[in-house]
Amino acid sequence: MENSHNLIVVTGAGGFIGGNLISALRHRGCTALRAVDIKPIEQWYQRFDDVENLSLDLNLKENCEISADGAYEIYNLAANMGGMGFIEHNKALCMLSVLINTHMLQAALKHGTKRFFYASSACVYNADKQKSFEAASLKEEDAYPALAEDGYGWEKLFSERMCRHFREDYGLSTRVARFHNVYGPWGTWYGGREKAPAAICRKVIEAKIKGTNEIEIWGSGMQTRSFMYIDDCLKGIGLIMDSDILEPINLGSSQAVTINQLVDLAEEIAGIKLKRRYDLSAPKGVDGRNSDNTLIQQLLHWEPDTPLRTGLEKTYRWIYDQYLARERGDGGVVRELFTASH
Ligand code: NAD
Repeated sequence: MENSHNLIVVTGAGGFIGGNLISALRHRGCTALRAVDIKPIEQWYQRFDDVENLSLDLNLKENCEISADGAYEIYNLAANMGGMGFIEHNKALCMLSVLINTHMLQAALKHGTKRFFYASSACVYNADKQKSFEAASLKEEDAYPALAEDGYGWEKLFSERMCRHFREDYGLSTRVARFHNVYGPWGTWYGGREKAPAAICRKVIEAKIKGTNEIEIWGSGMQTRSFMYIDDCLKGIGLIMDSDILEPINLGSSQAVTINQLVDLAEEIAGIKLKRRYDLSAPKGVDGRNSDNTLIQQLLHWEPDTPLRTGLEKTYRWIYDQYLARERGDGGVVRELFTASH
């Protein structure tokens, strides 16, 4: 970000990370912001009335051109995505996000955008390297030879490479981060697209409120993952965007936990203990995945460091409030109108 008046465009701004990014950029003093999402504006998770908010389908080239017009920087976060249940059953839809990325890159080039950020994913990593619960943490080079998550992961890997070739062939300055499971307030927590931390918080809250004393867990609960709190994700996006790092880099926590340990934490926060029912036929993803942060530490002298307990507690409290509001029927969902004074 060169100066606060340069126009910054965030796509996917009606969603979890994009909405939080717009909020963070406002707090950093950026005054020229354009937020774009396909959802009708009243359904965005966060919405700011001092930002140019556009509801546009970025699968369409002409809409990408409207979005990129005058942009100094673009953060391209729009994608069709969700937790394992969603990406497992919507492979074609996930791959169609290639239209968004292709058209946004072309539009950025046409409008002389100075820098383009692309949100990739740990789903690009070779599945053979994630076959045991104790699999070694994933280094950037482990994406090749390519055997990405079918559908969603292949699209991410392809789009990473497209960013690289737009940089090498056309001189568009691109930056790519591979996010590992991001969680936090203002994200999807019900409806089928939510990811593990939000889903588990919601199930624990539901069991507590309804007194069912039981929780369903997808898989054996032994799968290992790492979870990055949203504030770390936003800090990392800023550092990577402003850096000279040209190759895709991990942006994730290196604190691996099993899904059972994640449930332990949520129960501890809720102050209850639930009977666990394991659904072994549910989509559960790879057995073991963690972020090797050697490269980010080396290049940025930093890595995501919010303890899972701290971030999960904030997320739990937020979902708890959302849950109650939804039960009361007063809108309840992750939706609020912010004004310039916030
Ligand atoms: P999200 O689903 O909350 O946000 C994505 C937004 O993109 C949604 O609001 C959606 O409406 C919008 N979108 C989808 N299709 C669109 C279209 N055709 N035109 C315009 N907008 C469209 O997801 P998120 O968690 O905020 O993820 C943001 C980015 O980070 C995505 O690219 C995702 O693949 C990537 N990512 C996220 C995670 C994570 O754990 N959340 C992990 C790895 C990568």
